[in-house]
Amino acid sequence: MEKVTKSKFIKVRCSKCKNEQIIFGNASNVVLCLVCAKELAHPTGGKSKISGRVLEVLE
Ligand SMILES: [Zn+2]
Repeated sequence: MEKVTKSKFIKVRCSKCKNEQIIFGNASNVVLCLVCAKELAHPTGGKSKISGRVLEVLE
């Protein structure tokens, strides 16, 4: 689990199907994997808790 506090786009890899997906680091909604619908991130008071593997933070 990694917490992201700033509003950045993050490339994450789904831990289930290895799909790579770019998500918003400060998402206000649950973000699901587009391939297998596993939860990749969910909001926790303004921050996103990332469930997958963070590959890259895009500035
Ligand atoms: Zn997946």
